[in-house]
Amino acid sequence: NTVDVNGIITSVMSTFKLKVEKYGGTIEADLEAEDAWVKVDEMHFTNVIFNLLDNAVKYAREDVPLSLFIRTRILDNDKVEISIQDNGIGIKKEDLKKIFEKFYRVSTGNVHNVKGFGLGLAYVHKIIHDLNGTIRAESELNIGTKFIIILPLIKNK
Ligand code: ATP
Ligand code: MG
Repeated sequence: NTVDVNGIITSVMSTFKLKVEKYGGTIEADLEAEDAWVKVDEMHFTNVIFNLLDNAVKYAREDVPLSLFIRTRILDNDKVEISIQDNGIGIKKEDLKKIFEKFYRVSTGNVHNVKGFGLGLAYVHKIIHDLNGTIRAESELNIGTKFIIILPLIKNK
């Protein structure tokens, strides 16, 4: 199974667009990696992008509108980098190490009170690693979070 990275991102983005804009937020993309094909099941890859956008919406700050930025670019001619950046509540350093673990959820305090099983990122991590890819997160509390995925390309014209 092969998928066009930008194609999946564009379609998942469109499912979030109305929801984000309804609350005054924006969702933008710079999909530079044209014709970037990866060997992944379409449903799984759709779920990966969905989970990351879902988290960005769930963990948005309440005092500023959500600004979501998605970027794709080709690296070294044989890999694609996908980055998803939000301006949400952010994740503390101690927590950042654990977010890809099954059932891990940052202790919410009164910052946010949203439901979840703590499974989304564990799933994302597994799918990406099964493809010989990598995923990492950079975050700053109250500033935002950026997830960066790197996947090997099977074809890049
Ligand atoms: P599920 O995805 O299973 O519904 P979840 O969203 O709590 O539940 P994950 O997606 O695995 O679980 O995320 C783990 C934890 O990492 C979240 O509970 C949240 O605390 C934190 N987190 C994930 N994404 C973000 C983000 N974009 N901004 C801030 N915190 C995040
Ligand atoms: Mg989640």
